[in-house]
Amino acid sequence: MAFCPASEIQDLWVFGEYGDVNPSVTDSSTYTFMSPDTMEEVFDHEIEGCFLYSRAWNPSNKYLCDALARIEQTEAAHVTASGMAAITSSIMQLCSAGDEVVSGWTIYGGTYAFLANFLPRFGVKVRFVDMSNADMVADAVTEKTKVVYCETISNPLLQVPDIPRLKEIASRVGAQLLVDNTFAPLSVAPAQHGADIILHSLTKFINGTSDCVAGVICSSKEFSDEVGNVNSGATMLLGPVLDSLRSASILKNLHTLHLRIRQHSKNALYLATRMHEAGLTIHYPGLPDHPQHQRITSMLNTDYGYGGMLVINAGDQATADRLMVAMQEAKVGYLAVSLGYFKTLFSAPAHSTSSEIPEATQQEMGLTGGMVRMSVGLDQDIERTWERIESCMKQVGLLN
Ligand code: PLP
Repeated sequence: MAFCPASEIQDLWVFGEYGDVNPSVTDSSTYTFMSPDTMEEVFDHEIEGCFLYSRAWNPSNKYLCDALARIEQTEAAHVTASGMAAITSSIMQLCSAGDEVVSGWTIYGGTYAFLANFLPRFGVKVRFVDMSNADMVADAVTEKTKVVYCETISNPLLQVPDIPRLKEIASRVGAQLLVDNTFAPLSVAPAQHGADIILHSLTKFINGTSDCVAGVICSSKEFSDEVGNVNSGATMLLGPVLDSLRSASILKNLHTLHLRIRQHSKNALYLATRMHEAGLTIHYPGLPDHPQHQRITSMLNTDYGYGGMLVINAGDQATADRLMVAMQEAKVGYLAVSLGYFKTLFSAPAHSTSSEIPEATQQEMGLTGGMVRMSVGLDQDIERTWERIESCMKQVGLLN
C-alpha cells in the first residue's frame, strides 16, 4: 500500500495522565529527580521518559515531534520556535568556516537573506543556482559543500527540484540534502525521495490557523541528537525552543491536516484551471503546462494534490496592487503575507516576502513586481470565489 502520512498520525495514540484524549501539556521548565545520579546520566545522554530542562526537551514537544517525524517518514524530529530557527540551526550545525552551501535562489526571502548576508560572516561560502536544473547544482558542488538546500515547491516561483537527482549529487561530495517542505506537507514526503533533513515552517499549512510561529527539523536520530546536544547543538545553545503550550495546540491542528491539504489543493487546482482557461499567466505545479508538472507528479502522494499555493502574473506592479485591493474588498481573502491559513491570503512577493533578494537577482530568476502569490483557503464554495476573482480581474483590466 502507498505511504499514507495521515494514517501515520491517526495511529499515534497518546493520552494525558487521566486518560485525557489530548496528552497533558507540559507546564514546567524543569523536572525533579529522585537521585543526583540519574540527573547526571540524563545530562550525558537521553533516557527514554526522562526530562531535564524544557529548552532541551519536554513532553509536549516530544509528542509533536513524534507526529511530525511520522508524517515526514524520518527517525526523529526537533521542533523549534520558528521555521527560520529550524533552517538556520540545521545549516549552522552542519557548516563550519571554510565549508560551502549550494542553494536554490528561488527560496523564501528570509532564508535567502540568512544564506547571502549572515552565514558568510562565519566563513561559509554560499552559491545560489537554479535548483530546478540539477545540472547547475552538479556544476556548483565541490568537495567543500556540506549542504545542498532547496524547497520542494519553491517560494515564490513554485519551481520543483528533482529531489532524487539532488540527493545523488549531494552524496557524491558527502553533502546533506536539506529540503524545506513548507509548501507541500503530506503532498510530498521528501525523505522518501532521498532528502536527509526536512524542514518546515509550522507557522503555515501544518498549523493552519495563523495564530503562531513555529518550525521543525525532521531528520535521522543522530542529527536530531546532534542539534540538541548540550555541548555543541545549535538548538540547545542558540535556544530557539518552541513553547510547550503552543506545541500542544499545533498537535491538535495536525489531526485535521489531511482534510485541510486536500481542500487547499482542490480549491487551488480549481482556481488555477479557471484562470488558465481565462488566458492568464498562472504558475501552479498541478497544471499540466507547469515546467516541472511531471517531476512533482512522480513524487506526489496523489491523495493530497499539488498544494494550495498559486501565482498570478498580473503583468505589472500597479495592476497587481489594484487586483489585491479589489480582491480584499470583494472578500476573496486578505492582503497579507504568510500562507496556509484557512482563508485565502495574497501578497506581491517581489515587494514583501522576497524583497530581501536583490532586484537584479529577482529579474534573473524571473520574479517580477506583477506577480501575486496566493495561498488558497478552505472555501466551501470555490465557484463563488472564482466569480469574485473574475470580477476583480475585469475591474482592474486583467480580463475583458
Ligand atoms: N520557509 C518558507 C518556505 C517560508 O515561506 C517561510 C516563511 O514565510 C519560512 C520558511 C520561515 O518560517 P517562519 O516565519 O516560521 O520562521
